[in-house]
Amino acid sequence: MSESSIEKNRLENIDLMQIEYFSDLPISKREVIVMEYSNPMAITIRKFLTSVGFEDVHICKEIKDAVRIFSDFINKEVSVPIIIDDNISYENIKRIVNEVFEIQPNAKIIIITAKEKNDIQITELLSAGISSVIQKPLSLQSFRNVFSHIFENNDQGQGMMAEQSFEFIRTASERISQNKIQDILKTSNIETENLIKKSSESRNIMLETEILEAACNQCNSTNITYIAECPNCKGINFKQQNLIEHYYCGEVFPKEPNNTTCPKCNKEIGAVGTDYREFSDYYVCNSCNDRFPKPLSRFNCLDCNNFFIEKLAAWKKSKIYRVRS
Ligand SMILES: [Zn+2]
Ligand SMILES: [Zn+2]
Ligand SMILES: [Zn+2]
Repeated sequence: MSESSIEKNRLENIDLMQIEYFSDLPISKREVIVMEYSNPMAITIRKFLTSVGFEDVHICKEIKDAVRIFSDFINKEVSVPIIIDDNISYENIKRIVNEVFEIQPNAKIIIITAKEKNDIQITELLSAGISSVIQKPLSLQSFRNVFSHIFENNDQGQGMMAEQSFEFIRTASERISQNKIQDILKTSNIETENLIKKSSESRNIMLETEILEAACNQCNSTNITYIAECPNCKGINFKQQNLIEHYYCGEVFPKEPNNTTCPKCNKEIGAVGTDYREFSDYYVCNSCNDRFPKPLSRFNCLDCNNFFIEKLAAWKKSKIYRVRS
């Protein structure tokens, strides 16, 4: 073997080692590169990407900028997803896809397109190794689906955690709501459906009914709780109690099991209907002594701490599953 071919061999081995090494790089959930020359489109895409959790969206109008930023990240040992709008020519898309795969063979490239998934150019790109396609018109859900898929495949740990938390909630309940599971576990639609599907298939849960569930009018989460307060002092030290109106002196006071005399006039309370009447379903506040027929009730969102009254709640359909004991 000549000197130069030994040298060449050595270089090729280094390349292979580098490729293997680069293949395992973590995929950034914070940074993302977008190849988009149209400003209005860039704004929309940025909005969806921030909604699915990305913090830094690098918008590029030139292929060379996108490739340069990508390779800068690879040098810092992070792989960054790349989104390409196919409003550039097909030749240019192929160019950027090839250049990126040369830098990192399992880069995550996503194409935004108005074409069908079985379009010849799209199938070619898919077989070239792009991760997925987001179809126009754009929707938040399609961004969610694509990224939950990308991260699910690379993030077995997270998937395991969601599964364990799901089991924890399932075994602690007699019924579970699909919306609530999703909002508590912070899983995507697809992830939640997979958890539900898996559990149904192993007959651990059974679909019982569909309901309309209150959700936060600010963040749309069903992870909310119902709170009740005294309408006068906003305290929580009240309980349901019947009230007695004593006809003799006109006093109204909470009924206690042992009261036979009136706390105001100290006379016998007497017989119901003749000497006094009873109001049922009242509430008596121990803090301010107020009596009221209905506590002040509001929802509190456990995700964003928003407070809202029932009238202003958002309503979401959810499936309720019965847990097999
Ligand atoms: Zn909220
Ligand atoms: Zn009160
Ligand atoms: Zn009295």
